[in-house]
Amino acid sequence: MTACDDTAPGAASDGFACPADGSPGQLVRALTVAANVRGPMPAPQRFKICCSRDCEIVYFGDAGDAFSVGDVDTVPGFKAGSDGLVCYCFGHREVDLRAESGAAAPSRILAAVEARVETGDCYCAVKSPSGRCCLGNLRALVEATRSGSAT
Ligand SMILES: [Zn+2]
Repeated sequence: MTACDDTAPGAASDGFACPADGSPGQLVRALTVAANVRGPMPAPQRFKICCSRDCEIVYFGDAGDAFSVGDVDTVPGFKAGSDGLVCYCFGHREVDLRAESGAAAPSRILAAVEARVETGDCYCAVKSPSGRCCLGNLRALVEATRSGSAT
């Protein structure tokens, strides 16, 4: 087990939603927020990440504080206008993974990430905007690309 196995999902009914688009978001640790935003942290509170592609809010707290895409070091890959990162620890982009997955050979990017995660050499808790491991997403992306269902 590594830090990447942290899979505590945010329930949709935690009582606070994105102040911009009203989406429920997912709970993230204050550690993750502190690691990704620029400038001082607001008062302690519970934080969520807004999962909406077209919403400029990245993190919002139940005390009313919010951080937009301009306030964070790494814009989540699922947000419009991001670099499309899918692996934040090692800097892999979705386009690279898709390009590589088109070949018949095993994904070298996926294998490399799996090897690093296996040895515990990964920092998703602070490097990934969601604080969760991206490995599941990487595997799903490779599968989707291979099966031709990806657009
Ligand atoms: Zn939002």
